Amino acid sequence: MGRLVAIVGRPNVGKSTLFNRLTQTRTAIVDDTAGTTRDRQYGKVDWCGKEFSIVDTGGWVVNSEDIFESEINKQVHVAIEEADVIMFVVDATNGVTDLDDHVAEILRRSTKPVILVANKVDTNDWIYNIADFYALGLGEPFPVSASNGHGTGDLLDEVVKDL
Ligand code: GDP
Ligand code: MG
Repeated sequence: MGRLVAIVGRPNVGKSTLFNRLTQTRTAIVDDTAGTTRDRQYGKVDWCGKEFSIVDTGGWVVNSEDIFESEINKQVHVAIEEADVIMFVVDATNGVTDLDDHVAEILRRSTKPVILVANKVDTNDWIYNIADFYALGLGEPFPVSASNGHGTGDLLDEVVKDL
């Protein structure tokens, strides 16, 4: 299968939109309601002649905080298990949330490389917000807009740099 990149993060940060943007499909289900991606969705990305696979995670049903958090734990652990690289997506318009912290803690304990993606940077007005995400302890956040494609070229360069 080659390199597999898993997109993880709390609901509504734009994982499915990013998946669609990177694979240039409309396969992943994007919705304003948190947790709409029903299952794991696999796709392929070709960037400058370098290919990798990508998986959009989600599929949790939000009933209670407990189920919610345990579903996120499950998705992140599956991602750590199966993927070669983790793309951890956060929402630059929202700042760091408790769930972001929770996911970051799991990822910091794994040995898999993590690329921190600060999504929804549609314009440079949001660029100053991304400094907060250094506190997650996962390195430099990559500012992108999954909606309009801003910054996704630099992100893809990072994913394939050692391929
Ligand atoms: P997921 O739950 O993490 O898969 O998030 P979705 O991809 O379903 O997106 C959740 C919401 O965020 C939708 O309303 C998207 O249109 C919106 N969204 C996703 N990416 C961006 C972005 O780059 N900029 C803006 N402004 N909205 C975005
Ligand atoms: Mg989704």
